[in-house]
Amino acid sequence: MEENRPMDLSSFADGAQYIAGRLSHGTGPEPFDVVNPADGGTVQRVRLASTEDVDAAVAAAAAALPEWSRATPGTRAAALLRLSTVLDERAAEFAAVETAQTGKPIKLSSEFDVPGTIDNTAFFAGAARNLEGRAAGEYSGDHTSYVRREAIGVVGSISPWNYPLQMAAWKILPAIAAGNTIVLKPAELTPLTSLMFARACTEAGIPDGVVNVVTGAGRTAGEHLVAHPDVAMVSFTGSTAVGRRVAELATAGIKRTHLELGGKAPFVVFDDADLDAAVHGAVAGSLINSGQDCTAATRAYVQRPLYDAFVAGVAELFGTVRLGDPRNPRTDLGPLVSFAHRDRVAGFVERARSHGATVVTGGAAPTLGHDGTDLGRGAYYQPTLIIDAAQESEVVQGEIFGPVLVVLPFDSDDEGLRLANDTPYGLAASVWTGGVHRSLRATREIAAGCVWVNDHIPIISEMPHGGYKASGHGKDMSQYSLDEYTQIKHVMQDLTGSARKDWHRTVFGDRG
Ligand code: NAD
Repeated sequence: MEENRPMDLSSFADGAQYIAGRLSHGTGPEPFDVVNPADGGTVQRVRLASTEDVDAAVAAAAAALPEWSRATPGTRAAALLRLSTVLDERAAEFAAVETAQTGKPIKLSSEFDVPGTIDNTAFFAGAARNLEGRAAGEYSGDHTSYVRREAIGVVGSISPWNYPLQMAAWKILPAIAAGNTIVLKPAELTPLTSLMFARACTEAGIPDGVVNVVTGAGRTAGEHLVAHPDVAMVSFTGSTAVGRRVAELATAGIKRTHLELGGKAPFVVFDDADLDAAVHGAVAGSLINSGQDCTAATRAYVQRPLYDAFVAGVAELFGTVRLGDPRNPRTDLGPLVSFAHRDRVAGFVERARSHGATVVTGGAAPTLGHDGTDLGRGAYYQPTLIIDAAQESEVVQGEIFGPVLVVLPFDSDDEGLRLANDTPYGLAASVWTGGVHRSLRATREIAAGCVWVNDHIPIISEMPHGGYKASGHGKDMSQYSLDEYTQIKHVMQDLTGSARKDWHRTVFGDRG
């Protein structure tokens, strides 16, 4: 990976729409500033997409579809392998831009977001050659049947701002590996690395129009894309509230949907757990990306004998986390993605406090960083630990999406597992125990798309990611994601050569 390559934003002077292999300016009415939440400065002024720009992107994707969907798996795989090389060459630049537009620490962008994206790309290069229909044979006796797995068509995708590059990759890679073409609308707060990813696709030789990116507002460009009659499938990652709206629009058009929605992951610590491991896991699992992670540990349920020591341990470690300039490689925690979002997170904490919860540590905007940074200029919020909240309270039930961990005690194993399942969400969870039977029971009973045992957060390209319950349906990453982006066709071919088939008797010609 090349280090310290300067961030080069000059190409965005050509616009922030990527349509048919070229950057162009949006024709929406207002200019929009992509803001660095670490200091409030403008990273890039862009012109947002109008509905006409969305139409142009869908037309480009539709035009590219026949050739791309008929390209051999080997051709698609070779292009994706070249893409992984291009991304690797640009790794430092991707990390710098990701950090500038989100405020996430450079060590997270350069050690997690960017390498994860490169690995995903290499994975889908391989996966493209492993698409298969399950069976072929003479099931009726008079026919040969076989199954074709085919692309769906133009995919309309919408992604969130928390991991902009990874979310773009999770949408684009399985879609195009399976022979679809795509129009992606990233969150308007953070469009830049999605545009860079699309440009890298062109450099890697992926034909124009296969990957298009429109930078636009959700209500206008997003809804227009979802409802567009030439979009055959909608894949969405974002909040459950917006996912519901997207599902309504897509359902009206009888479109395939893939919905990756919100989460409120429980973190269940049984009394035979390694306390030190659980405390470290809770700090890392709740503060990653400033808690703006759909799988972040948000509710720790700790069995009574370990409860006090767990709370004290987490409070102590929260105090050691270094807030500062996200470009500084020693910074652990950057700002939240925007000032509006910081205020939203602070609102959750204030309401919890006013309803009787105790804020053990944090609960305010910090002022000075470990590196002397004036944190007051950015959208920073302290790591915050809350206890004494009621299970049914907003801070336990709602998605805060900030560096806030709530800890509650439980007595019996049954109670711990019941509380873990007691929110509308079901994206991820973790259990902490030294007992084989406890972990087997908990992993069976927790209703979530991913359950970790004695860890919380790691993901891997080969394994599926996706929710249960209000966290949505469908899988990202892994071979399973290709099921989302393909459809199955049964071909049944007459084997007899006979003009008068036996079964015709059930309709006509039965002389008996
Ligand atoms: P959001 O729902 O506010 O926005 C997501 C995207 O939807 C953005 O691109 C936005 O512009 C667009 N949008 C907004 N209104 C729209 C509309 N009416 N029609 C079409 N598109 C519209 O989410 P966010 O705040 O960007 O991201 C945070 C959310 O994403 C959290 O809820 C988090 O849990 C979720 N998330 C889920 C996963 C997962 O894999 N399940 C991964 C990452 C983030």
